[in-house]
Amino acid sequence: MHSDSTEKRAANLSRRGFMRDTTLATAAAAAAAAGLGAALPQDAVAAPMIGSSGSLPVPKAKGPRVVVVGGGTAGLTLAKYLKKENPKFDVVLLEKRSQYQSCFCSNLWYPDVVNMEYLSNHSYIDAAQNNGYIYYNCTATGLDREAKRLYTNMGEIQYDFLAICPGIDYDFTRFGIPADDLDTQFACRQMFPGGWIQPTEQVAVRNKIQGFAGGIFVVTVPTGNYRCLPSPYERTCVIAGWMKKNGIKGKVLLLDPNPDIVIKAKGFHAAFDELYKDIVEYRPSSTIRGIDPFKKIIHTELEDIKFDDATLYPGVQGGYIIQQMGLVSPDSTQREANIDPFHYNIKGDPYVYACGDVRPMGYSKSANTANSEAHYVAKVIASRATDKETKIPWISPETLCYSMVGLQPEEAIYVDARYNPKTFGFTDVKEDDTRSKANAAAYLAWGKGIYTDLFT
Ligand SMILES: Cc1cc2nc3c(=O)[nH]c(=O)nc-3n(C[C@H](O)[C@H](O)[C@H](O)COP(=O)(O)OP(=O)(O)OC[C@H]3O[C@@H](n4cnc5c(N)ncnc54)[C@H](O)[C@@H]3O)c2cc1C
Repeated sequence: MHSDSTEKRAANLSRRGFMRDTTLATAAAAAAAAGLGAALPQDAVAAPMIGSSGSLPVPKAKGPRVVVVGGGTAGLTLAKYLKKENPKFDVVLLEKRSQYQSCFCSNLWYPDVVNMEYLSNHSYIDAAQNNGYIYYNCTATGLDREAKRLYTNMGEIQYDFLAICPGIDYDFTRFGIPADDLDTQFACRQMFPGGWIQPTEQVAVRNKIQGFAGGIFVVTVPTGNYRCLPSPYERTCVIAGWMKKNGIKGKVLLLDPNPDIVIKAKGFHAAFDELYKDIVEYRPSSTIRGIDPFKKIIHTELEDIKFDDATLYPGVQGGYIIQQMGLVSPDSTQREANIDPFHYNIKGDPYVYACGDVRPMGYSKSANTANSEAHYVAKVIASRATDKETKIPWISPETLCYSMVGLQPEEAIYVDARYNPKTFGFTDVKEDDTRSKANAAAYLAWGKGIYTDLFT
């Protein structure tokens, strides 16, 4: 069934090997959950720890069991729509966080455009209850595809179908920080968090922005296909808007490795020039080659930049669990999942799927993309349950992405696009670069619409 022998070795753990590998994988998962990502040192992987054994304590399957790993945008959508596509499915959603807090719209919380309730007053329990599936708070740690068994820190679970939606992890090597330089990585993580993954980062970022006393505040744009293309540019606007509103003296310095803004360029340039002329300094073609977080210096190819505070966004890679499970695409420079791009199953395995930001296709890694994509993947899995050769016609995901550029008044711009199945690039693009209050209202309504789709 599996063509790749390396993949097969990783997937087909022997029982004996499993105890060892699960212990390692669990340690690795715990480390990844703590934010270590790809830079996990071998010593840490080999550290002894208490593994889990036995079955995950969930009710017996009452139909074909579909296990979904990750209760973010893709996983929550998938769990709900799998049940709608086939009410006989016994769906189990596994999520390592105990409380939901959305990444999307989090830039709006920093300057108090929305409150915390908007982002996090959403319950996994309500979502499961409203949609007839089981939610369990645990961390997936390993996989035996031959036995169709998933391992977690709370026990193992058999599946008929498995969907892995773990989102992303950071890759600090893209900042020129060596993989084994954990001192520098952790100083960056903790002193200048990005806020693109964990809720706790978002709290730290908000405290930084609202506590900024003045000087140079740096925002960085990563290289590669990072999560939410417009979000560093939007972040720049909301920090500048906050400073303007509160009379804070200083500058937001946006370092971009690209020669120009990569999305909604006209709208962002207009905001930078017209709303934040004396506050935002946009520096294109600034590729970061190293960071000294202790001295607060960023080294680019051309210069050394001293800063007072920052929110640093390194590059991204597929959610770490994909690596632990041996499911990384050999063609993905960002260690994303090795899936059939039209049916989302791991190549050669019709029982294991991956979607959301962990996909290797060049789609914009955003909430609307993950949500619309998961609607389609639910159809594919439902179809596969009755017919191995699914006839479901491919449906393009839709990327609808707003950015708040003005705060007084609140004004936004947006882009809406679908994808070309040959290139996986944008097609049918509608872009509104003229900032408006109507777009700002539509932005907030869009966020509420996604929460409604995930939780009710
Ligand atoms: C600042 C910011 C602004 C954004 N703005 C927008 C926007 O305006 N519009 C837009 O469309 N998108 C936006 N996004 C992007 C959007 O939030 C993501 O692209 C989207 O949530 C991706 O969905 P996902 O399900 O792939 O990943 P996530 O939503 O990150 O979900 C992954 C889940 O998997 C869980 N998980 C990981 N590993 C395991 C494991 N081993 N076991 C159990 N659970 C696990 C994680 O805890 C997490 O809950 C923004 C993101 C950020 C950070």
